[in-house]
Amino acid sequence: MKSSRNTKPEPTEVSIGDIVVGGVQTVVIAGPCAVESHDSLMRIARSVKVSGAHLLRGGAFKPRTSPYSFQGHGDDALKWLGEARAVTGLKVVSEVMDVRRVEAMARVVDCLQVGTRNMQNFDLLRELGRVPNAILLKRGMSATIEEWLLAAEYILAEGNPNVILCERGIRTFESATRNTLDLSAIPVVRALSHLPIAIDPSHGTGRRDGVAPMTKAAIAAGADAVMIEVHDDPERALSDGAQSLSLFAFDGLMRDAARIADVCGRPFQDQRVVAFSSRTIGGAI
Ligand code: PEP
Ligand code: MN
Repeated sequence: MKSSRNTKPEPTEVSIGDIVVGGVQTVVIAGPCAVESHDSLMRIARSVKVSGAHLLRGGAFKPRTSPYSFQGHGDDALKWLGEARAVTGLKVVSEVMDVRRVEAMARVVDCLQVGTRNMQNFDLLRELGRVPNAILLKRGMSATIEEWLLAAEYILAEGNPNVILCERGIRTFESATRNTLDLSAIPVVRALSHLPIAIDPSHGTGRRDGVAPMTKAAIAAGADAVMIEVHDDPERALSDGAQSLSLFAFDGLMRDAARIADVCGRPFQDQRVVAFSSRTIGGAI
């Protein structure tokens, strides 16, 4: 197995621009669940950059449970993500749902996300194995760790080594949280595989008050990256508002989480813009 630690003992480092996932530093991916408008994305992107995020997330094509829910702005959203990247310098992560869009999206998105619902879409995985981009492979909501690693194997087997695994919570009998975040996947994956592992505490809990504690716990448990949903007006978000942090709350979390990352010997790469001066010049980064 290409994903196995027996085949490759040293950890895999996945580079996204100058950000390395799986290296010494802890990486923070932040942004809205869905890209909702040009202006809102720019506000969020500028703010998370100032707070020290390393990569910008934002869905252009959204896998919604109901076909009548907001489905994302598609190609317009991709264009806005490109603009946010140009303005902030943050590379972007966005979900690809359709095998027919892989090639086009690979040209404009730095890291392609495979959602939990597509973890076993084997044709999509194979196609992602044929592009050079980083792939963020979410764990299927009912998938075992073995099934998740075999899904990664489809991408690796086609020749793309740049796979980041992302635990985002699994379905259990518990209904107080949206999903049950399996932080124990970190040591298990670590033992079995050389691939980097990210934690998504937003989908993992589904509740805003769960995000900060689980982010800190994930970093303490050795996650290579965390992915956090952030919105400039969470109460009015078109998707996943209940689990989205405000810009202010994200900034506070970054300060706390940076200290934990330091203590664990996996500091944040220093992306924090001198917050005071950049805010006083109107966030003009
Ligand atoms: C998302 O990241 O917004 C998303 C839809 O994730 P998941 O596939 O884990 O539900
Ligand atoms: Mn979401």
